Amino acid sequence: MNPFDHELNRRVAALSEQRLRRELRRVDSPQGPRIEIGGKTLLNFSSNDYLGLANHPALKEAAIKAVEKFGAGAGASRLICGSLAPFHELEEALAAFKGVEAALTFSTGYATALGTITALVGKDDIVILDKLVHASIVDAARLSGAKLRVFGHNDLNDLKDILKWAAKSQIANRKSQILIATESIFSMDGDAAPLGEMVALKEKYGAWLMVDEAHATGLYGKNGRGLADELGVSDRIEIQMGTLGKALGASGGYICGSRALIDFLVNRARSFIFSTAPVPAAAAAATAGIILAQSPGSEAWRNALWQLVEQLNSKLKTQNSKPAGAIIPLIIGDEARVVELATKLRGQNIFIPAIRYPTVARGAARLRVTLTAAHSAEDVVQLVQTLADLKFEIADLKSP
Ligand SMILES: *Cc1c(COP(=O)(O)O)cnc(C)c1O
Repeated sequence: MNPFDHELNRRVAALSEQRLRRELRRVDSPQGPRIEIGGKTLLNFSSNDYLGLANHPALKEAAIKAVEKFGAGAGASRLICGSLAPFHELEEALAAFKGVEAALTFSTGYATALGTITALVGKDDIVILDKLVHASIVDAARLSGAKLRVFGHNDLNDLKDILKWAAKSQIANRKSQILIATESIFSMDGDAAPLGEMVALKEKYGAWLMVDEAHATGLYGKNGRGLADELGVSDRIEIQMGTLGKALGASGGYICGSRALIDFLVNRARSFIFSTAPVPAAAAAATAGIILAQSPGSEAWRNALWQLVEQLNSKLKTQNSKPAGAIIPLIIGDEARVVELATKLRGQNIFIPAIRYPTVARGAARLRVTLTAAHSAEDVVQLVQTLADLKFEIADLKSP
């Protein structure tokens, strides 16, 4: 074997040893409550398709129509070869959905964070992040060259102390901006950020606030606008970010905010400027997802989902006290153990991902259960039964 491959094999072997190696599992069906892997049908508790839209006929039809009218590919960056109509329709639908002046879409949520944060701040500035914020925001903050500070997860006192320090450095360097970034519903823990208090703090210290609603859009607030809407603070948040690939059922990322913000990003967000536009089918599917998420029927989906969440929570010890979102982590701790549990679960036809470092801290490995409106009460019964039957030592699980 050549030295290059030998070295890489050595690195992956080191991951295997720590039970941190990851593998792709081929799925031969659409996403949904049941997926096909290796000729077997598994009950799927792994996807972020919270409203069951990824395989919805309306999204598929919208994508097909867009292919027929606009073709498969976008040709170039939207600033180079013209900006296809489906992107404009999507951005208008997004702005109306979120109740903001304007929206801009990117190829992914990851590219959204990267382009937006690096456009807004640079080496003179300070970025303050929640300890558990998503990798896309961490990577963006690092790439921006700004001074980076991290506050304890949802710890307002810690945030306040850092803001006090940042305000002082701002006096020393008058060009300096302060940007706080957090998620509204946290992707691996399912808990919520205290957005009301954070808005008050950022206003007191003159900071900007960016909120990633990846796991809240479609689920919380009026018509699923997000947690910021539910808490009544969305018009006080400068930068609202999200993805089109979770509850909205399609693919892509977005920023919602003022017209000034969007005009600025079109000119400065490098992941937008220097990247071919997504396929028009993705934009059309996302627009259909946004329409469905606000449709009269969508309230029934959300209610069904919250009922399933309650059903599962009633079987858990620790989750009862805090009403979690659709993300229910069963904390295991040890990496080897969580891999073993996930494998056993697959043997019982249940698919739950083993979430490990670096997605979460070392020793904080977990089975991350996500429920969707497309699951049934029987699905949750089967999940609880399987967990109990296997006598998993999941601290969270009540004895049946
Ligand atoms: C999934 C996710 C992203 C990235 O969005 P993609 O569209 O999947 O690239 C960003 N932030 C959070 C919190 C996420 O969970």
